[in-house]
Amino acid sequence: MPNRHNGPDREPSGRERQRLLAIVCYPGATCWLCRGEKGPIQWGLRKAHPLGPSMDHVIPRSHGGYWELENLRPAHYGCNSSRGNREPPRYARVRSRHW
Ligand SMILES: [Zn+2]
Repeated sequence: MPNRHNGPDREPSGRERQRLLAIVCYPGATCWLCRGEKGPIQWGLRKAHPLGPSMDHVIPRSHGGYWELENLRPAHYGCNSSRGNREPPRYARVRSRHW
C-alpha cells in the first residue's frame, strides 16, 4: 500500500506549492483556460485576485491527478476557480505531456 505522504499524490507543503507556482506561472505565462483572453497572469496582486497566478490540474485532484509539473498548467486564479473539477476545455487537451 503506497504511503500517501511520500507518493506523488501527496499534498505539497505551502513552500513546495510556492515553488511549483513560480515554475508553472513563469513571467509571461498564459492562462491555459482562457488562453490569455483576460490578459496575462499577474503577480503582486492581492491574494485570490481573479487575474492572479494559480496552478490548474489537468487531471483534477479529485480524479487522481498529481501535483506534478506535467499535470499543472498556469491559470488565472479566477479562471481556475470557475473551472472547478470540470473537464478541461477541448483545446487544452491537445498538449498533454509535452508543451
Ligand atoms: Zn484565464
